[in-house]
This record gives sequence, structure tokens and C-alpha cells, in this order.
Amino acid sequence: MMNSKYLLLLICSGFLFFTSCKDPKEYNVNSSFTEYLQRFEAEGAKRGHTFDPQTNGLIIEFANLKDNTAGLTHYEKPIRIEIDKTYWNDISNSAGADLMKEDLIFHELGHGLLNRDHLNSTLPNGDWKSIMCGGTKVNDRSWNINYRGVRRNYYVDELFNESTPAPSFGKLVNPIDTTGYSSFVAFNFDTPSQSGWTLGDSTNYTISQGNGKLSFRSKVNEVYLVFMRLPSPISILTDFSYELTLNFPLGDLTKQYGVVFGPVPPGSSGNNDPIEYLTINNNQKMYMGNRSWYSYFTELTESSVIPGGNNKLKVFKVGQILYYYINGVYCYSSEMEAKSTLNEFGFLVPPLATVSIDNLRISKKGSAAVVSAKVNQNIQFEFRMQKTDQFIIPNIKNQ
Ligand SMILES: [Zn+2]
Repeated sequence: MMNSKYLLLLICSGFLFFTSCKDPKEYNVNSSFTEYLQRFEAEGAKRGHTFDPQTNGLIIEFANLKDNTAGLTHYEKPIRIEIDKTYWNDISNSAGADLMKEDLIFHELGHGLLNRDHLNSTLPNGDWKSIMCGGTKVNDRSWNINYRGVRRNYYVDELFNESTPAPSFGKLVNPIDTTGYSSFVAFNFDTPSQSGWTLGDSTNYTISQGNGKLSFRSKVNEVYLVFMRLPSPISILTDFSYELTLNFPLGDLTKQYGVVFGPVPPGSSGNNDPIEYLTINNNQKMYMGNRSWYSYFTELTESSVIPGGNNKLKVFKVGQILYYYINGVYCYSSEMEAKSTLNEFGFLVPPLATVSIDNLRISKKGSAAVVSAKVNQNIQFEFRMQKTDQFIIPNIKNQ
């Protein structure tokens, strides 16, 4: 975020002869930020930009910023950048902290050293076009930017050269062959024996079966992750797809529901496990991310979401990339964070809500024997619920 303190500059220059004004070449960068400043200089050098902030002056310091602001660049002499201490500490505790810090410092240096303004346009797939997104909100969209993997290279290129061509990841064309997958886990929830999860009423939730669906009604003000543990976990090397049809009736348009999957070690509470998620809401928003990160990767508007209707969410994992589909329409792809054997698959239920599910399938490329509760009752699936308040995801602050 930018802020020109003209008044301060006026006062400062007016009393230049009488008071000891700030040294216009002062260099004072808090050690927390020097690594990211050095990276910025190195990335700039690769692209023909030379900076010498040690000689020319630069201040980067911690501050307590207001109004949900993560960083603020003041066009003073020298350039002075403030970083919100609370936000910096918060993101330090999550996976992806390094990239999130780099994104923040690079953005502010984009203002301060490259004189760039905010740029809030988007790529065809809905990704922010630039690391310089910020300032005045667009359609109330959060500033979460998927600054990872192949995207990082593009965003750094674009930072130093606004004319950088649109990247291939930003295209909205189905990039993979989705045919030839056969399910090896399948639940249709048509009968009580096909329900998987134990039916019944408990203090915090009720699980029921009817009309060919399974319904999970949460009675608590927290998010539920409802998992099944596979008898045979999926190797991280295996390409697979996971699909589930979910219904969440019209009402609160902001509540997110969707699919979750990932590696959960035995006995883990799951709170810090790198569980992947794809969620939607009835306001036609889509979110994707990994629970080990501070927040979701980015927020997209997807017209393929049917508000209040049956929505089939499907994720293909091919190599290290996850490809996301809503009701058969390709929406997005990006790198998977999970790095070990995937053993739990399930869905996410928002607070005090009822979500109905249908047609759960996990598939692999090629032929595979179908395993379901109906087909083989000896297969030991484990079904569990996890109540969590850590899924109330804070948005990335403005910068
Ligand atoms: Zn900014």
C-alpha cells in the first residue's frame, strides 16, 4: 500500500536549515527483511536492474499498521517501508512463510524501488495478474495470491517488467486428459449399508442417510472435517482423481463447503497436517489451498458453481499438480503441497450447517478393482470426524 506523506516532506524541507532532518541516504533495514531485500536485488540484477540501497538509502522497519494493512511504502527520502509486526509474526508460523514474506517485501519494493502502482487485473484463469495487486478492493475479492511454484517465476518477471507475456498456467483450457480413470473406492450412499460413516445422532452432529444421499448436520459453531481413512493409502507417486457431489442449501452465501484429502499420520489430531482442500460457497466463489498454510492460495469466481444445487467437485492429481473441476468444468490448477502418502479423503462442513453428499469416488488411471463397503465388507475403512476452529481462515492483508 502506498502513502505519500507530503505534509511531512513539506515541513521537513521547510526547516531543513534549522533542524536536523532525516538523512536522505539513510540505510536502515531490519535484519528480518535483509534476506528478502537481497533476493529482490538479485532478481533485479538478473533482469538488468541495479539497486544500491546501502548507498542510496532505504528504510524497512516494523510498525503496528491499522486497517488490515500488511505493508506500507512511504515516498519519503529515503523510501521508507513499514511492515506490520503482528502479520509478519502470524505468517511466520505457517508453511509457506518464506514465500509469503517474499511476496510482501517484493510488493513494497515494487512501489518503493520500481515506482510501480497497484495493478488489479487478472489472468484468464482468475489469478491475479501481478504481485502488485492491492489497494482498493475489486469485487470484494481477498488479496490472496497463489505465489508459489511456477507462478513465482512469472510474478517476479512481471514485477520487473509489466509487459511480461501471459503465462501458460493462466489459460483456462483443460490441460490434461481426464479419461481412462477407474474408481477403486466408490460410495453411492443409496442405502444404509453404503453410508460409510456410522449413522446416528450425537452431541455435536447427526449423520443420516436418505434419498440416495448421506447428510451431515453440524450442531457446533466450528468447521467439521469428515474423513475416511483408506485401507491402502495412495502413494505420492500415483496419479489419481477424487470426486464428490455436495449439496449445501441456499442461506448463508459465505459458508464454504467442499472436499479435503491428504496425508494424516496415525494418531494425529490433524490440525497441522498438510491437508489439501477445494471449497466453494453459494456465492459462486472457489478457494483452494493446504491447511498447513496461513490462508487459501487464492479466491476465484466460478460460474460453474450451482448455488444451493448439487455440485460435483473433482480433483485430478497428475504428477505434482492438482487440477480442479466443478461440475465437469476445468477451473484451475496448481502445485500440490502434500509430500507424503495420501491416506485420508473426505469433506468439509461449515459451522451449524447441513451438507449432503453423493457419489464419492477415488480413481486411478487404468483399470482398478472397485472397493466399497458394499462390495467388500472386510475392507477396513476408518471413518472419523474432526472438529476444528483452525479452519476459520484469515485473509491475506492488504499491501
Ligand atoms: Zn501496495
